[in-house]
Amino acid sequence: MDFTIVSDIITGKHVRKDYRHYMESQWFSRSDLAEIQSRKLRDLMEHCYENVPFYQKVMKQKGLIPSDFASIDTLAELPKVTKEDIKANYADFTPLNLKTIKGVKSGQTGGTTGSILVKRNDANTRSSIWGAFKRFESWMGYNAGEKALILMGGHVAHNRDIKYFKGEIKSFLQHRLLNQIVINPYSTDEEITKSIISHLINSDIRLVRGYSQYLYNLCQQMKKRGVFCRIPVVTTTAEPLMPQHRELFKEVLGAESFDQYGCGEVGGVAFECEKHEGMHITEERVIVEQNEDNDLILTDLDNYSMPFIRYYNADQAIIKNEKCSCGREHRLIQNVMGRTCDYVIGLNGEYLHWAYFWHLVFDSGIAQKRELNKFQIVQEAKDLLVFKYISSELESEEMQMLTENIQSRLGKIDVVFQQETQITNTATGKYRPVINKLLS
Ligand SMILES: [Zn+2]
Repeated sequence: MDFTIVSDIITGKHVRKDYRHYMESQWFSRSDLAEIQSRKLRDLMEHCYENVPFYQKVMKQKGLIPSDFASIDTLAELPKVTKEDIKANYADFTPLNLKTIKGVKSGQTGGTTGSILVKRNDANTRSSIWGAFKRFESWMGYNAGEKALILMGGHVAHNRDIKYFKGEIKSFLQHRLLNQIVINPYSTDEEITKSIISHLINSDIRLVRGYSQYLYNLCQQMKKRGVFCRIPVVTTTAEPLMPQHRELFKEVLGAESFDQYGCGEVGGVAFECEKHEGMHITEERVIVEQNEDNDLILTDLDNYSMPFIRYYNADQAIIKNEKCSCGREHRLIQNVMGRTCDYVIGLNGEYLHWAYFWHLVFDSGIAQKRELNKFQIVQEAKDLLVFKYISSELESEEMQMLTENIQSRLGKIDVVFQQETQITNTATGKYRPVINKLLS
């Protein structure tokens, strides 16, 4: 059963209305989508012109008025804004009419840089985000109310006070209502793994949501134990979903994989459709621009309580211009290359992305042969990389081969191999395949 109507009434959102709209607009032409964007952008800039000091100043300086934004091209006249810019000018990004905006909530957003921003959004934004997410569910063939298993590491509780317990009770009820089983997978407890596998086999789960690295390890364990099941859908987020992940999820869980891309400040940005040719940008709610380095610049068209306009979040991606064979004309993000800090830098100045290491260990056959469970590259110094890995011990020829390959790209950098029993994730549970200590 779909509880969206009940939830809308209780929370003052309009998810159902937005979802219906998005189900129609998924078939809109690019020019119709551009029209939605320019209308919403003009309205947003009207709000900023009236209420947001940062943009009042910028627009005055540049001699811009809201109606100039009827053309999306005008957006390029506004400055790019980073998390640090917002933090440094926090009051200027706070609308003067904040109290009149419905359903404003604030929360923290971290990210791989560890820099924390107190962000806000409003009922309107959350409705739009959930409306778009429900459309994604329909692309995956998942119906609201069907049983889902959520394996996402979440909050690290600090104070177990009344507010904390209230929050726990609320989320427990929400999950019950949505028919979700939620298990925090970041525990080494064998019982938890057993419980997850038991749910996968016995609970008629229709969808699994989790981080790709965690699910990959889980599937490796299941395969080893000869446990296979039939779950229709796996959806991953926050971490790269590679072809090898998809293959193993198909083999062990029987599931088709669907990727999505979003960021904490803006919410879901792009979602994969049933054709798996990339992730469709939710053009109805986000304007995605790119600079010459493929950095993404995002404009959230819904959030009036904390405008994210030309927001630069340090993610890079490849955007395809070809249309998807599903017939939807929303542009496709093909590949998110992760955070700018997820690189190592060679003595020759060359940048190597985590995906290079990923391909290196898989293409060389080492990952398969050693049953590689997890790895992490840490750049400790200009001339020192530490290659941490969890698998059976690498032989000296394997280490030499990896070192030679890495050096052929980065120059004579030292590579030290460390076999580990554990590689810890960040506090929010994200796995970082590459850590560059020169940049953090
Ligand atoms: Zn498509």
